[in-house]
Amino acid sequence: MTVVCNQHSQTNSLRYLMKSKVYIETFGCQMNVADTERAATGLTKAGYEMTSSAATADVVLFNTCSVRERAERKVLRRIGEVRKLSSPTTHKRPLIGVMGCVAQLEGQSIFDKTPVVDLIVGTRATDRIPSLIERVQGGEAGLIDLDDRQEGEVWDVSPAERRSPYVAFVPIIEGCNKFCSFCIVPFSRGREKSRNAAEIVAEILRLRSLGYKEVHLIGQNVNSYRPRATEGVQHYPGATPFSRLLRAVANTGMERIKFTTSFPRDFHPDIVSALEEYPNLCDWVHLPAQSGSDRILKSMRRGHNSEDYLRRMEGIKKSKRRLSLTSDIIIGFPGETEEDFEATMRLVQQCEYDALYIFKYSKRAGTPAAKLDDAVPETEKTARFMALEALQTSIQEKIYNAYVGRVVSVLVERESARSKDDMAGHSTCHKVVNFRANQTQPGDIVDVMISRGNPNSLYGELVG
Ligand code: SAM
Repeated sequence: MTVVCNQHSQTNSLRYLMKSKVYIETFGCQMNVADTERAATGLTKAGYEMTSSAATADVVLFNTCSVRERAERKVLRRIGEVRKLSSPTTHKRPLIGVMGCVAQLEGQSIFDKTPVVDLIVGTRATDRIPSLIERVQGGEAGLIDLDDRQEGEVWDVSPAERRSPYVAFVPIIEGCNKFCSFCIVPFSRGREKSRNAAEIVAEILRLRSLGYKEVHLIGQNVNSYRPRATEGVQHYPGATPFSRLLRAVANTGMERIKFTTSFPRDFHPDIVSALEEYPNLCDWVHLPAQSGSDRILKSMRRGHNSEDYLRRMEGIKKSKRRLSLTSDIIIGFPGETEEDFEATMRLVQQCEYDALYIFKYSKRAGTPAAKLDDAVPETEKTARFMALEALQTSIQEKIYNAYVGRVVSVLVERESARSKDDMAGHSTCHKVVNFRANQTQPGDIVDVMISRGNPNSLYGELVG
């Protein structure tokens, strides 16, 4: 284990005989949310109490994201705010830890930049957090653990620590082997490592028996799923391990199963066949294109060109089910010309996505793209961002309005932010749907007749 200890002191122990209250603030993707749930499970098991705000915590952990620079800056700002707080037990500032992707990438340099940080926990040290906290509380300073997971660790999440009692994230693969030139993930999360299918199926059966209605199979590239053994999928057909896993999890009887994110090069048509066979595999595919320009896709090292991508899209669009399609696009990659951007606009026009996540390119130190010159000026990035956003808004308006008069199945999640009389949830096609509550409760699955399409949501009335 890579544990660095700069200084040792004998103070503190008595004060910590009562286990502390821990708050974890999470940034970034669903994998980080899942890691937080896993860390909280381990901490509770070890006797720590989880608390819901930094102000009531003895220990504050920031679970960080490094995909874009903005998220990194936000964490530094939050550390500055938290250092001014006072722990309910020690009446001094809380113990501050940085976990997740920034911790893994920056390691020691976080201590140099922000000396108030007490602990650094890499992306694969989640299960060791309780003992690391204990050591810092015992007086060790400058503690860093960037080491690998230990053999035999299982993804064990207590329902009490899950974000929702109805929707659960189930990680199926960690890390990334793709090395797209812009992306930091292979460095922050290491190589792809798939979870055993039997363990995934068992977790979904357990979630079902606890009353969960929806699971999201998650990973940086879920369709690159490739476990070491076939245990758990051996009775299911499929052209790839992922499509076999889809059939296996569909057979658990879980009401709704979604999966994200997929990688275009590994998107096999058999995934669409599985979606057609099992209605509980939801009608939504997220397939990031990143660009419509072949020149830029090559420079991004995506391993697909626009023609490959459109061919896979065609397969999805031709499905017997209407599958909702969403994507990610990066604007202003180094060297992106007006012509390249026009190719992206054409691709988006052709694909007619149900939703699009548009990101301005963010230079990540250590990635191959960081060495490329020819940065696109910020004003140009903003102009392109706005043009693409306007195009997507017009496409979305058409798609959302076409839902008027249709009935969608909605998992009720919460009261609507807009009106106390309304509830909100997601459809199987992953759209936000608001509707008149009429005594429905979170966790119910209801049919809603859509009466209005808003820019990013649908509105309707309960049916029956
Ligand atoms: N499976 C996905 C794919 O096919 O690329 C990977 C998901 S990635 C972790 C999440 C999204 O963040 C990417 O799709 C990309 O649009 C965005 N992203 C990653 N690195 C970025 C960067 N350096 N600048 C801007 N956006 C970035």
